[in-house]
Amino acid sequence: MTRVFCIGELLIDFVAENQGSNLSKAMNFTKKAGGAPANVACAIAKLGGKSSFIGCVGKDSFGSFLLDVLKNEGVDISMAQRSNIFTTLAFVSIAEDGERDFVFNRGADEQLKYDSSIKTEFKKNILHFGAATALLGGPLEKAYGHYLFDGLCNESFIAFDPNFRSDLWGDDEATFTKKCMPYIEKSHLCKFSLEEALLLSGKDTVEEACAFLHEIGAEIITVTLGKEGTFVSTKTLQKTVPSIAVSAVDTTGAGDAFIGCLLYQISLLPSIEALLNDDQALLKMVEKANKAGAITTTKFGAIVALPSLTQLEA
Ligand code: ATP
Repeated sequence: MTRVFCIGELLIDFVAENQGSNLSKAMNFTKKAGGAPANVACAIAKLGGKSSFIGCVGKDSFGSFLLDVLKNEGVDISMAQRSNIFTTLAFVSIAEDGERDFVFNRGADEQLKYDSSIKTEFKKNILHFGAATALLGGPLEKAYGHYLFDGLCNESFIAFDPNFRSDLWGDDEATFTKKCMPYIEKSHLCKFSLEEALLLSGKDTVEEACAFLHEIGAEIITVTLGKEGTFVSTKTLQKTVPSIAVSAVDTTGAGDAFIGCLLYQISLLPSIEALLNDDQALLKMVEKANKAGAITTTKFGAIVALPSLTQLEA
């Protein structure tokens, strides 16, 4: 089994209770561990895989809480860093009109320093870049670039999920797109939402978007489509793999559960290269990953809702 190194942010999500008002009216908040790459690391560990988290939290109690959550899920946190700057905090509420009200206090996640001493660990393993905050600048963005290069030198399998958040990028979609391109170019596997695939390609349909993104360099592309399942594209295949029917209550983290489950299955392969030429094996894996995404929607929260292998195979 290969190890999956998930690089990026780990932060506190303060979710307003009594949704239906904006943050100015919200009085009580629930503290939750958040951050897409960290969720993916948890998804892999919960299925029994080997995952390590590479990211930075503050030397405060919130940072300790976050690292404990990951450790309790079985994620290796030995490569996580701690900064004197406070742990990154996000506050979110859904107002009456359904609009998200979001306040983002960026702190320690941005401070991840590149550590060249860990690059030997990457050899023939999997590197997952779940970029949500990573391309916003600072040391983390620089570290991202170095780790991408290390992964390539170490014959790692590279996975990329841009995790576009309009809350973070506003209307600067052009910069976001430009910054994603090197990752798409070098990735064996890209996971996009439909919105991301269309945004990054500038195309109107998922088929055209994937064709364009393959041209950039992505070898396998999965485009998650919520309850419709996942569109899978390689140079020899374009197909939608349906999901299972569930009673969804909260879709937070479904995408992370999906890519986590897919990477977990890839980590079990004796030869990762073989996957790149086996569309049928890939479709079976996506079917299972869809199930992981679907199960995650049946409970509130991201990490607590991630399925174990027993739940997945039930
Ligand atoms: P995120 O919000 O974490 O970025 P995303 O938009 O990439 O996620 P989704 O498309 O919501 O992810 O979900 C990922 C996968 O989970 C889907 O491709 C699908 O297989 C499964 N899934 C999500 N929602 C449902 C649902 N309501 N019913 C069944 N399956 C679902």
